[in-house]
Amino acid sequence: MRTPLIAGNWKMHMTGTAAAELVAELLETELNTGAQVLICPPFTALAAVAEVLEDAPVHLGAQNMHWEEQGAYTGEISPAMLVDAGCEYVILGHSERRQLFGETDEGVARKAAAAFAHHLIPVICCGETEAQRDAGETAAHIRSQVTAAVRGLRAADAAQAVIAYEPIWAIGTGKTATTEQAQEVCRLIREVLAEVQNEEVAQAVRILYGGSVKPANIAALMAQPDIDGALVGGASLTAADFAGIVNYGEEA
Ligand code: PEP
Repeated sequence: MRTPLIAGNWKMHMTGTAAAELVAELLETELNTGAQVLICPPFTALAAVAEVLEDAPVHLGAQNMHWEEQGAYTGEISPAMLVDAGCEYVILGHSERRQLFGETDEGVARKAAAAFAHHLIPVICCGETEAQRDAGETAAHIRSQVTAAVRGLRAADAAQAVIAYEPIWAIGTGKTATTEQAQEVCRLIREVLAEVQNEEVAQAVRILYGGSVKPANIAALMAQPDIDGALVGGASLTAADFAGIVNYGEEA
């Protein structure tokens, strides 16, 4: 049985002070589904958020990291630094990192392996552009991104990974994939995991959908058999909206 995961990606929003206020507001809200909750503030707000979270049942993650342990990599953050800041998770290969900062499948695979080496759980993102979808290339693209990210992992690690399917045309655009489109690709991801790793890994991995998730559309997404949660951008920046997504069972 996979525990649902609702993750918030705050992107480049929130100073430490603003982040601490938002997370305090979130903790005042009743979070009452059986889902695990994860928030991923920017690096500079991690310590402030970790302090507010203390023993709260909300997990902390970062939005990126380098694969190296340490060294002359100006501007980069290592896995150990994230652990030290209180992180348990790290988002890897978000489409904004791939499109705007040149991240490659190979780099994402190295980062995923480095995350596990430090007991961080990677939330590995994949997703097609609108042009790829229109050209009928979605399945091939997702297959190659997922294969590259997981094929080098030990099965015991791969089973703990989280994969986020985020169609790029649905991120921050207000366009959500239909539940059928989202389910179809999430099912494909599980098939690829079974091929590249094994069936046990495929059944253990949590697969999230991301792309304009809101309180109004989360319940239908969560009802799909291969969708185990959501990666939420814009709506995670408002405590009421994010709580409305976390409490998706009440919407059903
Ligand atoms: C994201 O960037 O991961 C995302 C899904 O953003 P939004 O929810 O704003 O579409």
